[in-house]
Amino acid sequence: MFSGKTSRLIELLERERFAGRKVILFKPEVDKRYGEDKVKTHKGIELDATVVKIDKGGVKALYKSALDYGVIGVDEAQFWNENSGLEEVLNDLASKKKMVYVSTLNKDYRGSPFGVSERLLTYADEIYSLTAVCTKCGEDAVFSQRMIDGIPESGPRIVVGGKEAYQPRCRNCYIKP
Ligand SMILES: [Zn+2]
Repeated sequence: MFSGKTSRLIELLERERFAGRKVILFKPEVDKRYGEDKVKTHKGIELDATVVKIDKGGVKALYKSALDYGVIGVDEAQFWNENSGLEEVLNDLASKKKMVYVSTLNKDYRGSPFGVSERLLTYADEIYSLTAVCTKCGEDAVFSQRMIDGIPESGPRIVVGGKEAYQPRCRNCYIKP
């Protein structure tokens, strides 16, 4: 988190649009931080997005809409259900000569991999690994520490939040909940 992955995704999609390609961006329905149909970077750059459900039905709808586009973006892919089939569908779209860009988080706050992300990384032709800055020491942060009132917290896997709930941490400063 706070690694700039959404900003990077939007940058890549903007480039494709400047190049004259038809671009569509999808985001999971679970992510209600910003407007229903926008993806916004922490710096405030906005892009229209199509909100889809994180289950099999949502992935089916995504596939149908994506067929009309040359370039497909997916933000926060880790939120899709493990059995939604997102990875297979995106792989299929890539096989149809479409350009597919995905932003995802590889580990949850407990440091465990997101299954969807693991499989997406396996299918990907190219991977850009981005890191945030550790809030404790300034080193590269590869973990997300979930905090409640300043204390490392455990609980359900997905709680969508902003700065108040998550802190990027390096391996040394991360406390396993
Ligand atoms: Zn640190």
